[in-house]
Amino acid sequence: MNLILMGLPGAGKGTQAEKIVEEYKIPHISTGDMFRSAMKEGTELGMKAKGFMDQGALVPDEVTIGIVKERLSKSDCNKGFLLDGFPRTIAQAEALEQLLADMNQPLDFVLHIDVPQDQLLERLTGRRICPSCGATYHVVFNPPKQEGICDKDGASLIQRDDDTAETVQKRLEVNIEQLQPLLNFYQEKGYLETINGNRDINEVFQDINSKLGELSK
Ligand SMILES: [Zn+2]
Repeated sequence: MNLILMGLPGAGKGTQAEKIVEEYKIPHISTGDMFRSAMKEGTELGMKAKGFMDQGALVPDEVTIGIVKERLSKSDCNKGFLLDGFPRTIAQAEALEQLLADMNQPLDFVLHIDVPQDQLLERLTGRRICPSCGATYHVVFNPPKQEGICDKDGASLIQRDDDTAETVQKRLEVNIEQLQPLLNFYQEKGYLETINGNRDINEVFQDINSKLGELSK
């Protein structure tokens, strides 16, 4: 089962990824983890990537694709994989198509967890953290017992600068600009499955599960 997971920040990708991994026993491969382990293992490509990052430069696609190839060639990907955070551009998506064709591992689905922007704004701006112990809350979905106060130590909760409406709105716009061309690309290729993410976590997963269940048969 070869999958790509896509969605805007706050859409619940992480939560659904955990559930997919547990149910289908395929590895969750995020770009960050992939780079970190390649660097830790000291592979040639990992070292190349590190060289660019240390200079604050973007890692070129050929290096990134090479790292993806190494990762997908590992034995834990025998039953498939769940890619998350890759590809980010059409050039990368095209390179991935070629790579998967070469590996004889074509994609099954690109799962897009779709949540309306105003909902994402509510989800993301509702985050509150405790400056003392780091506990996280959400004003709607996971409120503290007493408004604005940490359950664990009584400290006053704060909103991170990253979570203010203006910053979140900008972050969403940047992400939409990046995501939309990829969704179009995969739609045209016939891989795109749009999942309504504006529901209870378990309902979202049920929907994903029924899509993936068709594959397992
Ligand atoms: Zn606290």
